[in-house]
Amino acid sequence: MNRMNRQTIKIIISLIAIMAISTGFKALQINLDQKVQLEDYGSVIEAQNEQLKALESAQEKIAEKDAQIEALEASVDELRQDILDLTAQYEVLKHQNEALTDKVVYLTFDDGPSNEVTEQILEILKQYGVKATFFVQGRNVEKYPEMLKKIHEAGHVIGNHSYSHNYTYIYASEDQFWKDFNRCQEAVFKVTGENPTIFRFPGGSASAGNTNGEGFILSLGKSLIEQGYQYFDWNIDTGDAAGGYATSGVIKANAIAQIAKKKNAIVLMHDTDAKKSTVEALPEIIEHYLSMGYRFDVLTTNGYTSQFR
Ligand SMILES: [Zn+2]
Repeated sequence: MNRMNRQTIKIIISLIAIMAISTGFKALQINLDQKVQLEDYGSVIEAQNEQLKALESAQEKIAEKDAQIEALEASVDELRQDILDLTAQYEVLKHQNEALTDKVVYLTFDDGPSNEVTEQILEILKQYGVKATFFVQGRNVEKYPEMLKKIHEAGHVIGNHSYSHNYTYIYASEDQFWKDFNRCQEAVFKVTGENPTIFRFPGGSASAGNTNGEGFILSLGKSLIEQGYQYFDWNIDTGDAAGGYATSGVIKANAIAQIAKKKNAIVLMHDTDAKKSTVEALPEIIEHYLSMGYRFDVLTTNGYTSQFR
C-alpha cells in the first residue's frame, strides 16, 4: 500500500470513529433526558401517594366521626324516648295528684223553674262561670218553658224532679210514680229536645212523704239505674227549704259548716220564687267554696253521686 492510500484509510477510519462517538453521545443524551423525566415522574407519584395517604387518613377520620355521629344519634333517640316516658309518667302522676286533691262542689237547685229567682240564679252562676244542676218539676216546666230554655242554653244540667212533686200521689204506687216521672220527662223534652238522665226523689230518697215502706223508694231507685238513669240526694243541706223563712245568713252558714273536709259536695238549694234568701247567699257561698279550692261541676249518670241509702 502506498502512502496516499494509508492516509485515506486513516481519514476514513477517523471519520467513522467521529460518527460513532457522536451517535454514542446522542444516545447517551436521550438516556439522560429519560432519566430526568423518570425522576420527575417519581416525585410526582410520590407526591400523589402522599396525597392518597392524606385522603385515606381523612376518610378514616370521617368514618370515625360518622360512627361518633351514629352513636350520638342513638343516644339522642334514647333521650327522646326517656323524655316521652317521663312525660307519660308525669301525666299519670299529675292525674293521680289531681284526683287526690280534686275537690268538687255540685250546686243543685230544686223545684223550679220559677219566674224571678231562677233568672237571678242564672245571672250569678254566669258571673262566676259556674255550671249547676237544676232538678225541675214538670208542672213548673210547663208554666215557665222559657226559663227552662234559658237554663238549658246556659249549659246547666236539667234533672227530673217529678211532674207533680206530690208525695201522696207519686209514692202511692210504682205505677203512679212512673206516670209522674214520664210526664216530667215529656215536659222537659218538649222544651229542650233532650230527655233528662238524672233524677232526684221529691223529699230525697229517704223521703218522709213515702208511706210505702223503706224498700219502696230503694226498688224505684234500682229500677231507675237499670234503665240508665241515676238518682241523687245531697250531702249539704243549706236549709233554704226548711219550714219558715231561712235568712241568707243561715243558708250561708249551713253551706260553709257542712262542707267540712268533703271531697265531693252536693249542695241542696231551691229556685222557687219564695227563695230570695238563696239568691242573696249564693255569691258568698260560691266565693267561699272557691277560696277553699273547690271547683264546680254538674251531676252526670256516671259521675259522683250521694244517696241516703
Ligand atoms: Zn223538691
